[in-house]
Amino acid sequence: MREYEYIILGGGVAGGYAVKEFVDRGVAPGKLALVSADERLPYERPPLSKGFLTGKKKEKDILISNEAFYAKRGIDAHLHTHIWRIDFYRRILYPKAGEEFSFRKLLLATGSRVRTLDVPGGDLENVFYLRSFDEALQIREAALGGGPAVVIGGGYIGLEVSAHLAELGIDTTLVVDGDTLLRRLFTPEMSQFFARYLRERGVQFLFNSHVTELTGAETVEAVVHGTGEPLPAGFVVAGIGVEPVVDLYRSAGLLAGDGVGVNEYLETKAPDVFAAGDIAVFPDSLDGHPRRLDHWDNAMQQGRHAARNMLEQKTPYEHIPYFFSDVFDLSWEFWGETDGADRIVYRGDVEGGSFSAWWLSRDRLLGAFVLNRPEAERELAPRWIRERKEFSPGELEGNDAFSTIETHSD
Ligand code: NAP
Repeated sequence: MREYEYIILGGGVAGGYAVKEFVDRGVAPGKLALVSADERLPYERPPLSKGFLTGKKKEKDILISNEAFYAKRGIDAHLHTHIWRIDFYRRILYPKAGEEFSFRKLLLATGSRVRTLDVPGGDLENVFYLRSFDEALQIREAALGGGPAVVIGGGYIGLEVSAHLAELGIDTTLVVDGDTLLRRLFTPEMSQFFARYLRERGVQFLFNSHVTELTGAETVEAVVHGTGEPLPAGFVVAGIGVEPVVDLYRSAGLLAGDGVGVNEYLETKAPDVFAAGDIAVFPDSLDGHPRRLDHWDNAMQQGRHAARNMLEQKTPYEHIPYFFSDVFDLSWEFWGETDGADRIVYRGDVEGGSFSAWWLSRDRLLGAFVLNRPEAERELAPRWIRERKEFSPGELEGNDAFSTIETHSD
């Protein structure tokens, strides 16, 4: 039995940043282990659908901490280690092979797995998903062989991957089930702007098209969808969402909704067991409602926060959701949420690609999206959401509220 004071289960973004925080807080050598089914040390995921795909970034550029970092600090990384059972009472992790691990405190950070296409031909070669480093490599390799590429799903992966493939000069079509890109976030006006921007740079779109079959001998050759002729495909990338990996925790009664329930300190119901990242259903610091986020920023912040709470302090997790994305030369950011909004205010020029959008509910600011706008808007958006600031009609459209801050560029 390998005995540890602290174990982090899961080598994704939350796990990788938890390790960093333990080190920053001076964890003693030999006390901390990372146990991960992955063959690689934790790495950043955002670059996988961005610079990494176009070959601008290499493996060493995206590791959260490298091997030397672990070795120097006496942190054991048990990679390629599949845990099949956890005894929360006796505090033991059981791997499929090799020695068991005991812990005094445990962080659950097993992240998400991709949803897969449930259609005939879904198992053909050259049908890819994008979650891991190796999957990104496979897509990069397939892209070297040319296209055409068919990207399925109008979410983050769909938008970023189709833009980067088109940037590589590959004939790329994005197939979207509904009529809006990033339906959970974009308004129809925003979706139209992004669709036009990508279209002008080579991405073709098929909206309101549901994929029903992939055809080919061994390798995918065409994508059959509800409307029109099948689309020829040299390879397919599907980005149709993710689901949290929580199977190990069900029998222990740790689930709440579709994730692992935690309190404001990120503690689960099991004593000395914490959870962070995509799997954690935590009380929102603004309204107390249970929330689960599958995004990089939350995974990073929660991983760090959980490590701090495991070590010494006990402070509540307070967080404004934050997402960002890059497509072609556009970089946008979003804070907060859009659910429950009864009013949306735009500033700037949506069609011209320099705008911000502000979601309000009963005059209270819920969320803000910013693209190519003055720095004051970026700075004020998260601050105002945190303050639960209210704006009467007309106020956000004007400049007075924004002149309260001194603007400076990055
Ligand atoms: P996503 O953003 O949740 O988008 C999934 C898309 O697939 C949605 O447009 C969804 O439509 C559609 N869809 C669902 N089931 C489908 C089906 N059977 N056939 C066709 N379309 C289907 O998820 P994602 O793009 O796969 O990204 C996965 C995760 O990676 C995200 O949760 C995100 O955290 C992360 N990610 C983030 C970024 C970023 O923040 N910049 C970039 C890349 C990846 P509906 O909305 O209509 O259901």
